[in-house]
Amino acid sequence: MPAAAGPSSSPEPHSPHDGVDADAVGLIEFIDSSPSPFHAVARAAAALDAAGFTRLDERQAWPAPPGRCYLVRGGTLVAWAVEGEASPAAGFRLVGAHTDSPNLRIKPRPDAGGAGFRQLGIEVYGGALLNSWLDRDLGLSGRVTLRRDGRPETVLMRVDRALLRVPQLAIHLDRGVNEHGLVLNPQHHLAPVWGLGRPSEDGFRRFLADELGEAPDDILAWDVMAHDLTPGAVLGVDRSMISAPRIDNLASCYAAVRALVEHVAVEGAGSPDPESVPVICLFDHEEIGSQSAEGADSSLLPVVLERIVAAGGGTRDAFLRALATSRCVSADGAHATHPNYPERHEPGHPISLDAGPVLKHNASVRYATDAVSAGWFVLACEKAGVPLQHFVSRSDLPCGSTIGPVTASRLGIPTLDVGMPQLSMHSARELCGTTDPGLFVRALTAFLAG
Ligand code: ZN
Repeated sequence: MPAAAGPSSSPEPHSPHDGVDADAVGLIEFIDSSPSPFHAVARAAAALDAAGFTRLDERQAWPAPPGRCYLVRGGTLVAWAVEGEASPAAGFRLVGAHTDSPNLRIKPRPDAGGAGFRQLGIEVYGGALLNSWLDRDLGLSGRVTLRRDGRPETVLMRVDRALLRVPQLAIHLDRGVNEHGLVLNPQHHLAPVWGLGRPSEDGFRRFLADELGEAPDDILAWDVMAHDLTPGAVLGVDRSMISAPRIDNLASCYAAVRALVEHVAVEGAGSPDPESVPVICLFDHEEIGSQSAEGADSSLLPVVLERIVAAGGGTRDAFLRALATSRCVSADGAHATHPNYPERHEPGHPISLDAGPVLKHNASVRYATDAVSAGWFVLACEKAGVPLQHFVSRSDLPCGSTIGPVTASRLGIPTLDVGMPQLSMHSARELCGTTDPGLFVRALTAFLAG
């Protein structure tokens, strides 16, 4: 059909996102594009490319500033902009977030089965709410390493067809489940079915080979995981919420990228600030403790920051002086008060959706926020006209943690933990507000400029 509309043609169908805040729509698109950490990094890189950033190779010498640059290591991306005549000892304005989310990952020899079903062996990645993975149609995504002229080459893969399902046991065979709760053993109860018949020796490898147009022998290894196939959606009679997977923590990745792009658009328009260098770091492996070659607890960020200083002609002393005038936001999901479980929350610190970013406090520094670092963020929110909420756990419940304390202890710079409020954290399907993404972008943009 031609696109031209005549008087008799039917009206344009309403988009499900009509009238919804642009950053809510942007976040849904970002999440749908990012079923794995590797895809999240690729999506962020595409947004940075469009804003004039250049991808750097860690093996090469880096160009002298000014410049807008980023690098990718696995599922981690670090991006920064040195505009104008920045001093080599200019402090960093860091925003950290994480690209990974709890999910089910395919084992190295996954082909298995029983009772006439073909199944895949999986490992649980991170602190997943296991029940949320039951009875969903699942696709697969991640990265695959291929043999190329005798050398390994890694490519992205993504299949959005309904391939897998972890079938729940019928209530007739588990009569007490609603009274006693569901107990799932990850080894016995979570293997998805993906076909009928007998499992074949190398079925998964041959599936990957078919999808990628390669010979099975050339599939050397994979990091492949399951994802919920239902796209993100605007939810509610007033269309005030977002229902989507991976809101923890792609909401922060989205906001960090948007804030950096917004920052350079303003600064690049003629008011370069030589006093600070904005940096965003989107780390993989937060959900499993951040200890990896590209996690927040690796040498990656300190090394990148020192190389930014060195590329500008700065010495090690200039780098250490830069750290002394830096500050860091650790951006990660925050718990909104659950209407069905209000007793699980600290009554003096209620947290609502669409009421602004949440500053997270903990006396044992499970969150990095302290009076000094909090002050900077309170001022940034004031400047941006963004409301701010304050979270603290009940004194009789253990507190979560995130990359904030890790980053603070590696770099020794004032750090604060802040995030967008949400429900159902670590479910395969999470819930947040439609106004909060835009508020978070504005708050982080003001922080980067401060
Ligand atoms: Zn998180």
